[in-house]
Amino acid sequence: MTDRLGKLRNQLAPKGLDALIVSQAENRRYLSGFTGSAGFLLISQQRAFLATDFRYVEQAQAQAPGFEVVQIQGEIAKWFPRLASELDAQKLGFEGKSISFSTYKELTDALSNVRRKISLVPTDGMVESMRAVKDREELGLVEKAAALADAALEYIIPRIKLGASEKEIAWEIESFLRRNGSEPVPFELIVASGPDSAMPHARPTERAIRQGEPVVIDIGATVQGYTSDITRTICLGDGDSMFNKVYDIVLGAQLTAMATLQAGMTGEQADRLARTVIEQAGYKDAFGHGLGHGVGLATHEEPRLGTNSSDILAEGMVFTIEPGIYVSGWGGVRIEDMVVLEEGKVRPLTKARKMWKP
Ligand code: ZN
Ligand code: ZN
Repeated sequence: MTDRLGKLRNQLAPKGLDALIVSQAENRRYLSGFTGSAGFLLISQQRAFLATDFRYVEQAQAQAPGFEVVQIQGEIAKWFPRLASELDAQKLGFEGKSISFSTYKELTDALSNVRRKISLVPTDGMVESMRAVKDREELGLVEKAAALADAALEYIIPRIKLGASEKEIAWEIESFLRRNGSEPVPFELIVASGPDSAMPHARPTERAIRQGEPVVIDIGATVQGYTSDITRTICLGDGDSMFNKVYDIVLGAQLTAMATLQAGMTGEQADRLARTVIEQAGYKDAFGHGLGHGVGLATHEEPRLGTNSSDILAEGMVFTIEPGIYVSGWGGVRIEDMVVLEEGKVRPLTKARKMWKP
């Protein structure tokens, strides 16, 4: 944590900032260790405050020993000016994507009454870019979350019966994950069958699983806040010719990206590796989302792999590789794995089988 604070502080001066207010939940946890759901960090070169309300003070003191914990109450306008003065900062950065417009107005109004002039400066991605590269401890937790998700797939897929509903299967997976040590799952688990699977973010319904249809299963676990994200697509009985064809293309696209992706590429270049395979197979418009995303304390974080992403893929980053083909009215196939970039190449973190013959 000390190391993280140091790295953040090194970014302040080059950005013309004296201090930064951190309000984004995962950023707050990443820098301080504090897991409570409310509070602000105020970080300058000399000071590090964690401001939170009565419910969390004791927890904050235990979890964030490197911070001066300040108990706050009521509207931000009431307590913020005093802390801002104590920070002795004139240029105060805030996280533009996490502060609402109304909170921003309250902050500026509160500061207009302070004797010394303090200006608020919007920032973007200062902590997020640090979070994209995992240290050894973080990687260990991500690997545990990945192994749990693998185990859930290995458990559930052979047990899926014709006629079971998407919701039942999703619940079976979720309860397996919880029984085996996952914290609350990081997103609503996806089990989507037949035409439902043509929607990349379908929610499980009462629809019963039928023979010969694609079933997309997209799940994740959480271990000490760190998440995983993996997708497998299966088919009970023999798939129709469409399934076999589409599955092979998606698998080919995924394996191509895994084998040829290299550190130093942009998110767009990585995306292109898989997209070319899908385009050449004639499904150009059927892969309507990006190739992947970073995974860590949040299931969708930096880097972004997709068209127009200039994020540079660097050593130690953890992200997904998840091409898909979606055909309205028929269904979809997506295959998703988490990887880490090591020695310039991709090392898979999720390992569940890809070829299922139930
Ligand atoms: Zn997923
Ligand atoms: Zn994903």
